[in-house]
Amino acid sequence: MEPIRLGWRAGRRAVAGSATAGLPVILTALYVLAFCAWLVGRWGGPADAAVISDAAFLPMSLVAALFSWRASRRQRRDRRTAQAWKLIAVSYLCYWAGDLGWFYFDAVRGSRPYPSVADIGYLSYYPFLAAGLLWLPAARRTARERAVLAMDTATVTIGSFLVIWYLTIGPTIRADAAQGSAWLARILDVAYPLGDSIVLFALAVVLFRRAAGGIDSPLVTLSIGLAIFVVADVISSRMSLDGTYTDSSWVNSLWMVGQALTIVSAHFAGRSSTKNLAGRIDILRTSRQVSRLPYLAVAGALTLLIIVSVQQLSNSLIELIVGVAVLTAIVAMRQLATIQENRRLMTELRHAAETDHLTGVANRAQFFASGLLAFEASRRSSDPVGLLMIDIDHFKSINDSYGHAVGDSVLQQVTARICDSIRDSDVVARYGGDELAVLLPSCPESTLCEIAERIAGAVSDSAIACPNAAVAVTVSVGAARSDGDMSLIETLALADHALYQTKRSGRNSWSMHEHLVPAIATGT
Ligand code: GH3
Ligand code: MG
Repeated sequence: MEPIRLGWRAGRRAVAGSATAGLPVILTALYVLAFCAWLVGRWGGPADAAVISDAAFLPMSLVAALFSWRASRRQRRDRRTAQAWKLIAVSYLCYWAGDLGWFYFDAVRGSRPYPSVADIGYLSYYPFLAAGLLWLPAARRTARERAVLAMDTATVTIGSFLVIWYLTIGPTIRADAAQGSAWLARILDVAYPLGDSIVLFALAVVLFRRAAGGIDSPLVTLSIGLAIFVVADVISSRMSLDGTYTDSSWVNSLWMVGQALTIVSAHFAGRSSTKNLAGRIDILRTSRQVSRLPYLAVAGALTLLIIVSVQQLSNSLIELIVGVAVLTAIVAMRQLATIQENRRLMTELRHAAETDHLTGVANRAQFFASGLLAFEASRRSSDPVGLLMIDIDHFKSINDSYGHAVGDSVLQQVTARICDSIRDSDVVARYGGDELAVLLPSCPESTLCEIAERIAGAVSDSAIACPNAAVAVTVSVGAARSDGDMSLIETLALADHALYQTKRSGRNSWSMHEHLVPAIATGT
């Protein structure tokens, strides 16, 4: 059968696509492994170490910039995401300029000027990167949600800033003052950890704006990569302060892994488009989810307080601080447990409000919610969106002949066959009674017709096995499409019209609203 052959070919293409998709990831991983092997083996003398480590980083920021640029070019349907990736590409280009400058000074000229023009490149990286992250699109929020977002972001930013201050900024300011460093060097010494803090702030905003389920995997990879990069920055600054940092320090591997994850993230962002409607709905839904990050930030700050107090304070004050920290931790855990329970109840409630109890697919209200989003996206992008109205033929007589329990089972199994015939990103809903509707975002007319025929065929292909009966069932399908030029209601009316056309023409078939003549009849 044609639909099956098509599916098989598509499967082959998907396998071939994933093989080439993995190649840059494998090459990047091998490169990082080779660098880590060098860090362990430390081949070459100390003079070579500077050249090797400087040279090793050069391609990383350049590839990150190129892949980020490619990601921005591939996100044409989502302008905000495209612009965000463009800013990230510029940030890595700045970083690469810094690397190039540093390579020239360190490896070619054999001098290590500080400050130097390389610092302009390195420092420009932070604001562009933060701007790119903050520019990524986010779900709309109520004023109350924005307030919660601001508080969560502030908690994480202040918590991480405390750690960065304690480990690097504070000691650096004191060391610079003691050594009487030049004012420009003093400013740069503080600018780098401040840049790290700004990136952490932007990361916190991004992660809170798109709580767990709404974050796509490139963003998760990017966040982990940047977090590792910032940690490497902080550790290396600390090591420099203590005089333990060298060109072949293990901390270089963290920078390398951080950069590699950015490359991987940009590579996958360049392959997947964020137009996926389901993803967008998830973003809306999960914006109310609870993150553990603020609690981790408080725990980190308290741990720091205890470490410092153990080093510097009297016993009675340490006991008090530990006691307050334990109390805070218990209250925070209790609050987290309550919030998680509320979240579970909310999820159950939402599921019940959005789902049809009998068939388990979306109910009519949820269909309209998803449909309005898809049509709004289609209006902006002119991306075609398809609708199918499906009605079981002579369902009343099935009920009359076999009883309502069998009728219910037929409804469930017909729905299951429809779900098996469509893509994951499509939305199936029980429109009412024995009528189902399918919303197909990004669906050109040829695919829409294919799916309509596939659904009619999938239902009529074999009898439906019910308790005490095998029932031969057929459906009639009406299809309609909008290229961003019609509303959901108008397209639904056309699909409904096409459905009645199919019914009038003898059922067990499908019609497309434009032709309004029954297409190839399927099945028996
Ligand atoms: P047509 O081919 O013209 O669509 O004929 P039909 O018999 O399917 O059309 P009609 O709209 O008259 O019948 C729909 C039937 O679906 C009537 C109603 O009793 C039945 N029905 C609606 N909801 C349910 C349900 O949840 N379970 C069962 N078993 N039957 C239902
Ligand atoms: Mg019917």
